[in-house]
Amino acid sequence: MKEPKSLQDLYKMELADLYDAEQQIIKALPKMIDGATSEELKDALNEHLDVTKEQASRLEQIFEQMGEKPKREKCKGMQGVITEGSDLLEEIKDDDLRDAAIISAAQRVEHYEMAGYGTARTYAQLLGEDQAAKLLQQTLDEEKEADQKLSDLAGELNAEAMNGEGGEQEEKPAASERTAGSKRRKSAA
Ligand code: FE
Ligand code: ZN
Ligand code: FE
Repeated sequence: MKEPKSLQDLYKMELADLYDAEQQIIKALPKMIDGATSEELKDALNEHLDVTKEQASRLEQIFEQMGEKPKREKCKGMQGVITEGSDLLEEIKDDDLRDAAIISAAQRVEHYEMAGYGTARTYAQLLGEDQAAKLLQQTLDEEKEADQKLSDLAGELNAEAMNGEGGEQEEKPAASERTAGSKRRKSAA
């Protein structure tokens, strides 16, 4: 990697990093989809796979507008995020618990992307690359939307993962009830 000497250099590195990150995600998502049990979760991940491919071509468009070929710079951060997620999934046998872990891994991916796209969008604005700034904002909005969708799914699926502990029939009290019943804990509410 060459030492960046200007914000323009840093901007291009950021784009190359994001372009590599998107390619890694395109490769990793099918494995997460296979591992998921909930149809809703599978659908959400499948939809985001399509969106991710568009995001990658949006980055290609930005490179081309700068008169450059799309460049990839190994995104070690995304590699770590993805590896951590897939290592965890391989360990889990329970379907509901694995769905919860997939959501956790996927949200880490979205947040990492949001940080990168927010930065790149701001650089583009500062550098007067208005068209690129618009495209990057569009992707940033999609990543946020994906994250929100995963949060919504977590609300439902994490509860199923909790009920799954020690048998399907067992109903556990909600966290708030347990807290209220404990004398050693002060009420958080
Ligand atoms: Fe993306
Ligand atoms: Zn990176
Ligand atoms: Fe994403």
